Parts: sequence; C-alpha cells; structure tokens
Amino acid sequence: MDGEPMPQNGSWGECQIGAEPCCSKKNGFLGAYKETMSFAFVAEATLGKLAKWLRIIGFDTIYAPKNLAKALMETNGKPRIYLTRTRRMTYMGKTPTCIFIVSDDPFEQLKEVINAVDMMPEDVKPFSRCIRCNISIRQVDKTSVRGLVPDYILETQHIFQTCTGCGRIYWPGTHTERSRKVIKTLFE
Ligand SMILES: [Zn+2]
Repeated sequence: MDGEPMPQNGSWGECQIGAEPCCSKKNGFLGAYKETMSFAFVAEATLGKLAKWLRIIGFDTIYAPKNLAKALMETNGKPRIYLTRTRRMTYMGKTPTCIFIVSDDPFEQLKEVINAVDMMPEDVKPFSRCIRCNISIRQVDKTSVRGLVPDYILETQHIFQTCTGCGRIYWPGTHTERSRKVIKTLFE
C-alpha cells in the first residue's frame, strides 16, 4: 500500500467494486452513493495522473494521503471512493467503497472510473477546481486581477477565476488544448 500504514484491526477484504464490466451495476452500491452526494475520491500514490485528471474535470480528489482512514471520511463526513491498484485492501476492519484500476494509461484509468460509477456528462465540471490544491476555484472581477496577470491577458480575456488556497489565477487560456480534447472524448 505505497508505504501508507494500514489500520491493523480487521481482516483483509476483497474490493467490492471493480472496474470490470457491470460490477457497480450488479449491486447498485454506487448508484445509491450517487443519489446522496457528488463523487469524491481518494487516489493512492500510484495513481497521480488519474488524480490530476479527476481534478481537471472537477472532482474533489485527495492524492496519496498520509492518513488513508481520515482521508476516506474527509467529505463533510461522507465517505470518498478509494481508487486503488491493490486488489485486497481494508481499512478500519471493513472494505471501503473502492474501484480497482486495471489500466496503466491515465486516460483509460479515467474511463474506468467513469464507467464504474456510471458518471454522466452533466456530473463533470471541467476547470472548476485548482489542480494543485484540490479546492474549488471561484470567479472574480476582472479589475481584481489587474497587475497580477500580464496586460495582454487582461485585455483579451474576460473570465478570471482564482484559487483561495494557492492564489493561482485561471482564465480560459490556461486550460490546455489537450485537456479540452480529452474531456470531449471521455463520453464518446
Ligand atoms: Zn490552488
């Protein structure tokens, strides 16, 4: 488990949800999950690129937490979905809701998550979250970023957002063409 010490109590359990076809639909577990909250994730250390992509498309995603048990409960007390490449895992003596990721390719991994949770295009909010901090970014007045972005950006752009965590300023030009293309093909 990537050096992350796992709680000792309880026995090891099989992941209940796999990225294999129809796993989530079989027991309806994630369907019920979806009705109660928007998706939030914890990605283990081997899944850094996947975590980044989940943030790009707007999902609250903790990456390689120091304390896994705590991270799994860090969505206003509601559980997160654990993304893992380790088939057998447990925490606090029970198996968390998890998706076993099969592919080595980040884009395919993202598709595995989308399929496993039955994610719909309307669930996705691209470029709404800071990729560094995992915090929702908020739109700010153009005048408030004067002096903080290059003049030609201020002259040509009209929508600015900032992250309250790191202070980074985002505008449509900061999203790469590649990101846009990837998002476009996710649900094809
Ligand atoms: Zn930030």
